Amino acid sequence: MIDLKKIDLLGTDFGKCPIIAGPCSAESPEQVMECAMALKSQGIKVFRAGVWKPRTRPGNFEGAGDIALQWLKDVREETGMAIAVEVANVRHVESAFKAGIDILWIGARTTTSPFAVQEVADALKGTDIPVLVKNPINAELDLWIGAFERLDGAGITHMAAIHRGFSSYYERIYRYSPEWQIPIELRRRLPGLPVICDPSHMAGRRELVPYLAQMALDMQADGLFVEVHPNPDQALSDKRQQLTPGQFRDMTGRLVYHRNPEPSDTAYLEPYRSKLQDIDIRIIQELAQRFVITGDIGDYKNLHNLAVLQPERYSAISSILTEKGKQLGLDEKFIQLLFETIHTESIRCQINQKDTI
Ligand code: PEP
Ligand code: MN
Repeated sequence: MIDLKKIDLLGTDFGKCPIIAGPCSAESPEQVMECAMALKSQGIKVFRAGVWKPRTRPGNFEGAGDIALQWLKDVREETGMAIAVEVANVRHVESAFKAGIDILWIGARTTTSPFAVQEVADALKGTDIPVLVKNPINAELDLWIGAFERLDGAGITHMAAIHRGFSSYYERIYRYSPEWQIPIELRRRLPGLPVICDPSHMAGRRELVPYLAQMALDMQADGLFVEVHPNPDQALSDKRQQLTPGQFRDMTGRLVYHRNPEPSDTAYLEPYRSKLQDIDIRIIQELAQRFVITGDIGDYKNLHNLAVLQPERYSAISSILTEKGKQLGLDEKFIQLLFETIHTESIRCQINQKDTI
């Protein structure tokens, strides 16, 4: 188990909501310097840039490599900003150390591989550089937690999570589906671990980045990790999601930061919360009754040799509920998801019931 007392927001005071910003990839000395200067003038203290890029398909720009570390060293010297780069293996770690990089991050594709994370963790033994860990590309919380455990095992004490969204075959709006319930569960399992949101990779399109950044703050993100490029349309990677420094300024100027609740806020909300709790208890009671009926139906199907799943019935009830939900002003996708969950549980109960006969 991780000793959570050791975890601290990068060991640095970046203000109320630290924002780490910079281009997806370091492309040239001029590009990184121009970007860093623009961000520094906006008060940004940590500059991100990918030096080695893990690309899904071969043949795309794979980063400028070690030479870019010199450009980033120059940025550091010129601007005084801290520099963050992605590392995926022992060679990257060694080069980053030689270049005096301040913060490392483990990318989403690397977090999915316990061998790779262990290799990075082993290479970090004896150092105490801050390490940010992006969520694995697939929605598996234990892989994410496993990475923190491996780093903790190597003696790393300054860690933070980066929530950048999850790969999903069905997601249509965002490049990577946010699945906000996963960082919520991460906070519950590792209380005290800062969780920073990367709205750029989540959105995949620059128009959606400010919306997701605000949503992240509404969900209590401890910081933001944002891709900014002086000329995104010419970027060698992730061109659609990078903001110009001007767009970044507009976004940060509009973000609403939340204050911590005062006792008077809690007192005001209390009656609403207690009403909600009553409703939630009634929902559970109704569900329990529903599953008693499910049991009776299951018995009948067993006795008369009928299949548990009756697809026509399923689609009929699904459209009735979606329609009803719409009339009541409820979100269609939410109703479908809710009903799918109930229906799946209903089938599970009937199948288990069959096994116990
Ligand atoms: C990145 O931050 O540029 C990057 C490669 O991110 P991810 O690992 O989240 O895809
Ligand atoms: Mn990127």
